[in-house]
Amino acid sequence: EIVVTPFCCCYVVVLLKSCTFQFLSVSRTQGGVHVHGDGLTVTSPVHMWVKALDLILEKMKNAGFDFSCVKAISGSGQACHKPNMAVCTGKKERERVYSFLTQIETCTAFCRGWATAERHYRGKAPVAKVNIHLDDSRKPTDSFAVQDSPVWMDSSTVKQCQYLESAVGGAQQLADITGSRAYERFTSNQIAKIHQLQPNKYNETERISLVSSFAASLFLGDYAAIDYSDGSGMNLMDIFTKQWSLPCLKATAPMLAAKLCDPTPSTALLGSISSYFVKRFRFPEHCKVVAFTGDNPGSLAGMRLQEGDIAVSLGTSDTVFLWITEPRPAVEGHIFCNPVDCSSYMALICYKNGSLTRERIRNECSGGSWESFSSALWSTPMGNNGSIGIYFDVVEIIPPAIGIYRFDQRDKRVDAFTREVEIRALVEGQFLAKRVHAQKLGYRIIPGTKVLATGGASSNKAILQVLSDVFNAPVYTIDVANSACLGSAFRAMHGKLIHLNTLVAGKGVSFTDTVRGAAAAQLAVRPNPSAEEV
Ligand code: ADP
Repeated sequence: EIVVTPFCCCYVVVLLKSCTFQFLSVSRTQGGVHVHGDGLTVTSPVHMWVKALDLILEKMKNAGFDFSCVKAISGSGQACHKPNMAVCTGKKERERVYSFLTQIETCTAFCRGWATAERHYRGKAPVAKVNIHLDDSRKPTDSFAVQDSPVWMDSSTVKQCQYLESAVGGAQQLADITGSRAYERFTSNQIAKIHQLQPNKYNETERISLVSSFAASLFLGDYAAIDYSDGSGMNLMDIFTKQWSLPCLKATAPMLAAKLCDPTPSTALLGSISSYFVKRFRFPEHCKVVAFTGDNPGSLAGMRLQEGDIAVSLGTSDTVFLWITEPRPAVEGHIFCNPVDCSSYMALICYKNGSLTRERIRNECSGGSWESFSSALWSTPMGNNGSIGIYFDVVEIIPPAIGIYRFDQRDKRVDAFTREVEIRALVEGQFLAKRVHAQKLGYRIIPGTKVLATGGASSNKAILQVLSDVFNAPVYTIDVANSACLGSAFRAMHGKLIHLNTLVAGKGVSFTDTVRGAAAAQLAVRPNPSAEEV
């Protein structure tokens, strides 16, 4: 499937969706992963990602894409199991910028030395070492110390998480350094587990990559550095110094810094594309590879969040993205380095009780109709005359609590509300929680703040009005289908422009200026004038 989206007067973005990993004969996976017998360990064959990348490029070639016009390339590691790709191309032949998204995510790829070989072969042989991994008939066993790498769904490292937190003085202390408390899927804990259970494989490993930097490595034909933004989701990087944290390295595994190499700014231009892609797909030799990043940072770039903005995704679960300048890490939520502005940060908070809870209350209080649900919101006043509710049908992430709690205007706990009051209490309560948690992480509403709403419930104006009133800011809706993909295209262009501007004018160019021509978000609602007072 190829989708063409207008970007600005010069560019269009083309998305090419490809097959899912289970169709790749080499992988024999379910949805791209192997769930092991313990039900906790989840891995993917590294060879599958390499094969998937080649398959996507092959499909593009067959679809008639002219790779010779590609100027720059970037991408992001993604949580889904579909290889996916974004291409940003110019109407004007000379201005084309392509970007690729390999929609794959893991924590780590443990490489045994393919890039060293690739460096050796570069320029000497038409098809370099990387092609061995793209050739089905040959086994890549000599290149990856760990053939099956842990992916984001893995939750087998509880012990390693506990050890890491205690080694640095506790969960809050770890968050103060790395932006997050210990998480089982995070790279530090996965590396520690491999070092403990497979010490030989760990010792054989020359370089450990995130899937983002691994995909960039394939294009580069050399080991690509881990970018600050994806690197801040590893429980290993000090988000303030942007260097690997010594206490975290020490608590994870020996000789680790040498296997990771220094992290790099997310906007960095890593070098020119590998000769393999020049020969095989006719990329130009001067095509640049811009640092790849994670899927959430990629989404922030795709949504074009700016300082003071907040993006609220109202899908099955609710997710909040924040642009932060002065982060205050907490044990709840994540702080990452900002992928488009090295001096800023982004934060991410996820909630389990989102649309499914709204649906339950809709079914119980408005006969299953979103129209009646909306009418109840329109007919009740901002602030609900002091009635407030907390609705956790399942154990919430922030805070880890369950149950329904209702309080009347005198802050007295009550068992029930009228139907209309219940509906407003739910929606106001959900958005108030988001504002409180955001502010705890350092988020500040500033003049010009926008709330960007996405996901299924963002089609509901009554819900958006409550969102607008709670944040006392206008709400815009955006289409974020493939936002990480689009963000990769924007980042490819930005990285290339920074490089050119620095060469020509001796100074960089901001991401906001780079994407100024992209389609604007749609204004949906403005806050009521008395929202702040309420
Ligand atoms: P995801 O991508 O997470 O699967 P979507 O972004 O498609 O989810 O959102 C799905 C959710 O949107 C559903 O759970 C549904 O409750 C909610 N939804 C759809 N239409 C409306 C509406 N008019 N008002 C409120 N919520 C809605």
